[in-house]
Amino acid sequence: LELNSGDLKFTLELTTPACPFNDEIEADVRKAIDDIDGIENFDMKVTAKVMEGRSLDADESMATVKNVIGVASGKGGVGKSTTAINLAISIKNNGYNVGILDADIYGPSLPKLIGSNQKPKSDGKKLNPINAFGLQVMSIGFLVPDDSPTIWRGPMVISALTQLLTQVSWQNLDFLIIDLPPGTGDIQLSLAQKANLSGSIIVSTPQDLALIDARKGLNMFRKVDVPVLGIIENMSFFICPSCNEQTNIFGNGGAKKEAENLGVDFLGAIPLDSEIRSTSD
Ligand code: ADP
Repeated sequence: LELNSGDLKFTLELTTPACPFNDEIEADVRKAIDDIDGIENFDMKVTAKVMEGRSLDADESMATVKNVIGVASGKGGVGKSTTAINLAISIKNNGYNVGILDADIYGPSLPKLIGSNQKPKSDGKKLNPINAFGLQVMSIGFLVPDDSPTIWRGPMVISALTQLLTQVSWQNLDFLIIDLPPGTGDIQLSLAQKANLSGSIIVSTPQDLALIDARKGLNMFRKVDVPVLGIIENMSFFICPSCNEQTNIFGNGGAKKEAENLGVDFLGAIPLDSEIRSTSD
């Protein structure tokens, strides 16, 4: 706050850029200042400070990343990558700086989802993320040809992923979303620990066969003390475009029930919608 005779200059710092009361708070502050005698001009700068959900070690190579959220699924094909990128874009649209790292080493989908296969440039020490849709993006898919299988064994995968995590020059991220590989093995475990995750989100389809594996994923995060932020049910229901009737192709509500049983939040249900598939392709 600076006050020079009748000129007042200050910064109003909100708790989050997505604060639902932004306008109300700003209006209240303006009104309060109008009521003070002797203020002729004032200049208010509104900013927001995003909380850090992880300890930021000065030596840590990801010190510019405030929160890291892992998006995981027990099974492949449930829409984890699709949900991860849409989540990243939604958070960005709420005013945050967001990056996304495709750690699905055996089936990287991000290059296809952002429609770009350019090679990331290096500044000699680190790789610069690709910018797409206002997000900072990195994928193992940018570095290997997209039609050759990744035939690495566990230790090689872990070392490649560690490099991806630590050798990318992320620029002041409020959130880094990591699209984790499906499953609950060594790779996922070491990644959860190395990335120092602030939280995790589980994506599942509603049927039992997917939920069994989703539960394993959830327990894995609990084992390594990563908070589970909740479960998203994808392909939850289908509305027929010609007759508007709802069909629950994979059942419906299974993930919600599972979230209740496991004591975590249910974050929402996404319909099976051909537009999601076609716009992703
Ligand atoms: P995962 O990352 O779990 O392997 P993907 O995100 O690659 O799954 O999704 C698998 C396929 O399903 C993709 O073709 C994607 O476009 C499609 N898909 C995902 N979610 C939906 C949805 N809600 N409606 C329609 N298609 C979807």
